[in-house]
Amino acid sequence: MPKPVKMMQEMKRRSGPGCIMVRDDKRGMVPADGKFDHAYNTFLRVLDPRGDSPESAAIRHALACSTDLRFVEFGKRIMQRDSRGHRQPCLATVAKQCAISLSEFDAWADKSSAQWATSIAHRASPRIMSDMVKAAQTRKEPCSRCDGTGEIELNKKPRTCPLCKGAGEVDKIGDAHSQDKVLETAGVVGKKSGASVKLVQNFGTIESATDRLNKVTFEVASSETKVASSETKEEPDAAN
Ligand SMILES: [Zn+2]
Repeated sequence: MPKPVKMMQEMKRRSGPGCIMVRDDKRGMVPADGKFDHAYNTFLRVLDPRGDSPESAAIRHALACSTDLRFVEFGKRIMQRDSRGHRQPCLATVAKQCAISLSEFDAWADKSSAQWATSIAHRASPRIMSDMVKAAQTRKEPCSRCDGTGEIELNKKPRTCPLCKGAGEVDKIGDAHSQDKVLETAGVVGKKSGASVKLVQNFGTIESATDRLNKVTFEVASSETKVASSETKEEPDAAN
């Protein structure tokens, strides 16, 4: 049984540097020394899993969270230092040591970036919804007739502003689109999305009005619950 180093040297001798083995029209995992695999190295250089950017940090996070242990191992190994404090310079070599092919890594990266985008959207949605609620609400604004003074001049005499009745401000109705979206999300109108609110009435015939109102209950099924339950039926971890 040849030693691994000798085996690798022999493999290099047979395949030559830069030569990728192809079997059944599929790009193979060998040679194990990734520095000759230009396509793999270019891919990983662009992915930059060791970089300082937020994107690189997100990739490291996705690697650590992966249910495919090969990707977890890859994430660990690329950050490891040897006794001299050096990291493995070639990312493709680490990927090959973890038995991850380029096409597998490519598919993983696609899935991870889609998940990352979804996660950003999820995290931003409470703030967007909060802004939307603000925009949907009726608010006060300075009266345009009296410029907020509450008075106008008529025949050189001060009169109470007929528009704001002297208050200096008037109601500004909220944005209609925001109102639609907020009500739809709350489930008050439409049934396409958002929480659905079902009014369950259980009125008797001889009870007082208060007793009857006490029997009105709301059953709220939020859209999040629905989404979460439907998601759990899918693959538990789309990022492998
Ligand atoms: Zn006014």
